[in-house]
Amino acid sequence: RAKEMGKNNCQFYAQEMNAALEEKLALMEGLRRAVDDNQLRLLYQPKVDLASGQVFGVEALLRWQHPERGTVRPDLFIPLAEESGMIVAIGEWVLREACLQARRWQDAGLPPISMSVNVSPRQFDDPHLVRRVAAALAEAALDAQWLELEVTESLIMRDVQQAIDKMRELETMSIALSIDDFGTGYSSLAALKSFPISRLKIDKSFVRDLAHSTDDQAIARAIISLSHQLQMRVIAEGVETEQQRDFLVENGCDEMQGYLFSKPVPPDDIAAMLARPSEVAGAGA
Ligand code: C2E
Ligand code: MG
Ligand code: MG
Ligand code: MG
Repeated sequence: RAKEMGKNNCQFYAQEMNAALEEKLALMEGLRRAVDDNQLRLLYQPKVDLASGQVFGVEALLRWQHPERGTVRPDLFIPLAEESGMIVAIGEWVLREACLQARRWQDAGLPPISMSVNVSPRQFDDPHLVRRVAAALAEAALDAQWLELEVTESLIMRDVQQAIDKMRELETMSIALSIDDFGTGYSSLAALKSFPISRLKIDKSFVRDLAHSTDDQAIARAIISLSHQLQMRVIAEGVETEQQRDFLVENGCDEMQGYLFSKPVPPDDIAAMLARPSEVAGAGA
């Protein structure tokens, strides 16, 4: 009997694994067509300067408008795109579209803001990355000072010298670089000072319990202090409550991003915020 049940269990798990694998393959297959079939969209989340309460930039966040599944979030498909190498083509589309959108806002007479684009490891390793970035800027006639690339700690720590070289190239073009999800990876503090980084992003896992967790308060304070010691700006992501905002303001954080101000939204909503800067929700400290 026990043997029988064990066998059934195995079959059950095998079936589940097959289903998961089929699901993954179906998504990958669909993703192959997503760029050509115009199924990718960018939403934009405002970044707010705490001193002025103004939106000084946005982060472009990718969504996949799947014909049957509806909106698929990046946590589900970016890893598949990474694994299959499709991220290079998808990332190029993101870069071009983000730069063109920044140009559209400027053409509409809105105050220029910085545009942040997430870059994943395979994209960063692409030997043509610098050329692709330059082409996207040229196509949009966008000044490089308005573009920022977000990379993660783990990405730059894989091969520190290679990362420094590539980042220096981007820096020479006047492109800003920031470290996303800071605190969740394994940064060598010695290496950190060698990178041409303009800002650290405090990961939202440290922001979530900021009102109650003294550990997270200590970590947030340490990252703010580290950033300033290294002459960088510091931004907190995932700010949802006024208590979190107040803690960050009191402790000298420069900038914030999170649902308290705005979720990621379509381009027209950003245009409306830039046109009526005083009405950004949650910005008043
Ligand atoms: P990320 O770059 O760390 O982006 C922040 C994530 O936090 C976004 O999730 C954003 O919607 C979410 N978020 C913003 N404010 C809040 C808040 O107040 N509370 C909470 N709980 N979440 C908040 P999203 O859009 O699902 O993106 C997830 C990740 O997918 C991103 O993390 C980034 O690593 C990746 N990603 C998104 N777009 C792209 C892209 O164009 N290229 C690449 N390579 N990766 C991307
Ligand atoms: Mg990011
Ligand atoms: Mg992040
Ligand atoms: Mg993240």
